[in-house]
Amino acid sequence: MPMTFCPECGRRLVFQVVEGHERPVCDKDTGGCGFIDFGRYSLGVGGIVVSEEDGVKRVLLIERNAEPNRGTWTIPGGFCAWNETAQVAVAREVQEETGVECEIIGLVAFRNRVDPTYNNSYAVFLLRAIGGKVNGEPTEEIATAGFYTLAELDNMPRLSPLSRALAVAALTDALVVLHPMQVTSWVKGHPVMTLWMG
Ligand SMILES: [Zn+2]
Repeated sequence: MPMTFCPECGRRLVFQVVEGHERPVCDKDTGGCGFIDFGRYSLGVGGIVVSEEDGVKRVLLIERNAEPNRGTWTIPGGFCAWNETAQVAVAREVQEETGVECEIIGLVAFRNRVDPTYNNSYAVFLLRAIGGKVNGEPTEEIATAGFYTLAELDNMPRLSPLSRALAVAALTDALVVLHPMQVTSWVKGHPVMTLWMG
């Protein structure tokens, strides 16, 4: 959904053609700041953490305690803030939601969705637990968190279809991992970036 007012200066936006596309613009010719509305995007991140004990694999899942979808189960995760990278966000969210501290192994899945109002993407990382332990105590956001086997997933009807697909793939060694490498940008002021490549 296009914006009506400029988020930088508050003026009403007008439609103008920018590089071949009609977009809401804060018109500089009439005193605006030049802001262009390229659309609303958000990035969610999810973390897959697998534990293995006596040859039995378990995947880390959470039960939501807040709307939307209270009482449903998913892999842990959340939204990426504008000023943090996806890999930082996913480790932070997993730690906040479950108490488990992790490092990144790689990127394993991506999904994109156009909602009525905005464009949302979700990047899923495979993580390795390096510390902390599962906090089973309920919080405002999370009803419970824990590691679950493939058989236990079958008795979890409220596990989201997307998380189920990811969890099953993780527990059956079917994930394909894109590994991180550091690359330098040619653009002045850009930090060293992480490229995920198979
Ligand atoms: Zn403006």
